[in-house]
Amino acid sequence: REALEHLVHDSGISAQHRSFLRLVKPLAVVEDNVFLAVAEDFTKTYIESTLRGGVTEALSHVLGRDIRIAVTVDASVTPPDIAVPEPTAVDDAGTSAPSAPTPVTRTPDAVPDPHLNPRYTFDTFVIGSSNRFAHAAALAVAESPGKTYNPLFIYGGSGLGKTHLLHAIGHYTRQIKPQTRVRYVNSEEFTNDFINSIRDDRSLTFKRTYREVDVLLIDDIQFLQGKEQTLEEFFHTFNALHNAGKHVVITSDVSPRNLDGIEERMRTRFEWGLMTDVQPPDLETRIAILRKKAQADDVAAPGDVLEYIASNITSNIRELEGALIRVTAFAALNKQTVDLSLAQVVLKDLISDNDSEITASSIIGTTADYFGISMDELTGTSRSRVFVTARQIAMYLCRELTDLSLPKIGEHFGGKDHTTVMYSVKKVEDQIAQRRQMYNQVNEIHARVKQQTRG
Ligand code: ADP
Ligand code: MG
Repeated sequence: REALEHLVHDSGISAQHRSFLRLVKPLAVVEDNVFLAVAEDFTKTYIESTLRGGVTEALSHVLGRDIRIAVTVDASVTPPDIAVPEPTAVDDAGTSAPSAPTPVTRTPDAVPDPHLNPRYTFDTFVIGSSNRFAHAAALAVAESPGKTYNPLFIYGGSGLGKTHLLHAIGHYTRQIKPQTRVRYVNSEEFTNDFINSIRDDRSLTFKRTYREVDVLLIDDIQFLQGKEQTLEEFFHTFNALHNAGKHVVITSDVSPRNLDGIEERMRTRFEWGLMTDVQPPDLETRIAILRKKAQADDVAAPGDVLEYIASNITSNIRELEGALIRVTAFAALNKQTVDLSLAQVVLKDLISDNDSEITASSIIGTTADYFGISMDELTGTSRSRVFVTARQIAMYLCRELTDLSLPKIGEHFGGKDHTTVMYSVKKVEDQIAQRRQMYNQVNEIHARVKQQTRG
């Protein structure tokens, strides 16, 4: 803790870094490892990607030995309240003014909003045909919250920039009107907050947190599906804000129509304002995103490498960035230059075999959906043709896309014998090469499974 405070007060550190260090809670020092906890994923990412070097060095210095840092995410973490000093001027010689650990009163606009990822701004957002409309709507809202498009509802698959746009609205609004009260919250956090507020008898604080704002940015509303009490509370929050002319921006991985477990009256509300989706980006946009990311991270990656990555990773921008990071990190670690052959080697697994999270039940669910039957029908014993075909294809895909043994696959299909599984797999294999329809069905279901698992 002391070492961290020392860091935060280090006048050589930028205001942005300072505000991030405030979000860190020291957990333990075990031998040469310093364990830190943060409440949110992006804080971890930010610390690891941008601050790791500096923090490691500075903590090593303070502790007097070489240490490594390990950051874990724990949503319940409330970091110690380390006072944040104003940035101190650095003189021409590059030496900093003596550090003055005098706490200053924090005003909302003196430090960046710790709930907003500083990297998710409109500046870093690449516009393409897949997100042009969502971007324009977000910008319009950020320019004059409370006016048009209220609520703004942005939906689309995972990793397509919804959270990025939400944060960008927050940053921009505060930039042009610093006194605007912006609240960004993920729906899971909203749920926890709500539950805790009941438990601790703090419903007034809860109401204040979410109703005394000018802009409420609520992320991944699909998490609220089926959570009746939280939904009810959100509904009241929404109405209170909307009636007061405050802005609400909502994101979801599905459109309001497809939000199950949410009452009609609420879904209708979501459709009052503007709904816009974000689509997977086209090739040009993907390349542009990679170029921008390489620039921002100050890594050299030639055009053919960017193109290679962009052509092979198509459905999720997070994965796209991850691939670039993998390649450049590998090159840096091995002191090699980034070129096409290196990228091909590094990304071999990522591109050809990225199916680690695909489960039997996701395959069964997707296949059943595709054929318009229930999962029970698919895994049952009926011999009618559509059930048999669906069952065999699902078994085949379990074999292809998971590491499950034949007996294990059998278990997922109501306890079928492994020879049955083997027979089915063989049958589909044979038919794929013979029947165009079989080929198309298997391909389509395969693609859907992958698409969903990536989400
Ligand atoms: P979602 O919330 O839709 O799952 P995110 O907003 O978390 O997706 O985006 C995933 C990653 O991709 C983030 O790092 C984000 O900065 C980046 N990203 C998404 N869309 C764009 C874009 N149009 N330009 C630049 N980066 C983007
Ligand atoms: Mg998101």
